[in-house]
Amino acid sequence: MNQAERDAYNVGPWRVNRVQCFSCKAIVDSVNKNDFNYCRCGKIAVDGGSWYLRRVRKSWAKYRELSVEYADVIDVCAPIEIRV
Ligand SMILES: [Zn+2]
Repeated sequence: MNQAERDAYNVGPWRVNRVQCFSCKAIVDSVNKNDFNYCRCGKIAVDGGSWYLRRVRKSWAKYRELSVEYADVIDVCAPIEIRV
């Protein structure tokens, strides 16, 4: 999906918004701006869909970032980290 198509369909720069929790090994996706999902053990959550990468996690929890931007996107923001 190129920039013109993303503009037409109101889609942001992230093709995949996804993490893997190191504790429970669950892979968690966010597919819409308000699609907020926890992993199975509840230590990491993802939000933001294609628009931004919000991570809410226990301060000691570790995760693998698996997000992918669209190929033509040059400048994307780092994940927004909220520790609880
Ligand atoms: Zn987990």
